Amino acid sequence: MNALTGVLSDLDRVLLSADDIHARVADMAKQIERDYAGKLITVVALMDGALFFVADLLRQIDLPIRLVTLGASSYHGGTQSSGQVKLQWLAGVSFTGEHVLLLDDILDTGLTLTALHERLSAEAPATLRTGVLLNKKRPRAQDSTLDYCGFEIEDEFVVGYGMDYQGRFRNLPCIGILKP
Ligand code: 5GP
Ligand code: MG
Repeated sequence: MNALTGVLSDLDRVLLSADDIHARVADMAKQIERDYAGKLITVVALMDGALFFVADLLRQIDLPIRLVTLGASSYHGGTQSSGQVKLQWLAGVSFTGEHVLLLDDILDTGLTLTALHERLSAEAPATLRTGVLLNKKRPRAQDSTLDYCGFEIEDEFVVGYGMDYQGRFRNLPCIGILKP
């Protein structure tokens, strides 16, 4: 693959290489495949951050999957959560009786996943689990239960592999920290 040296030059350092990410995502796919054997999974993926993670993960799960994407934002362009989660809920999609797996790129304050978890629980799914690629080590008001987690990282603002700063850097194949 092209090394993308132009975009990479904006990084202060690489936290997780493309190889690190791919190896871990493959493990997660195997684990999910075992846990949901014989079931149809309804994946609810939060856009845009989880786009690359979900695309790589789901293509390695050998089970029937129904994919629903939802827009959720709490950062509104900065590097700190605004504390308010905006959800773009889909009208007419039912989760009742489904095995719902909620996937996001990163767990930071936990507000986004908590809001989504509550909203989805109200739809009476058969099961509801959550997974993220990254979990930031930080104190949280409410500890959300994570069923699947790729990596634990320090409390720093990261970009790449779907995660942006003001809409940029999503196309980085690795995950890193921007130059100040
Ligand atoms: P939370 O609601 O847990 O605070 O935030 C989750 C959302 O904030 C994630 O879906 C992600 O879009 C965004 N986010 C949290 N931390 C980071 C980060 O370090 N970098 C980027 N680019 N987005 C983040
Ligand atoms: Mg997000």
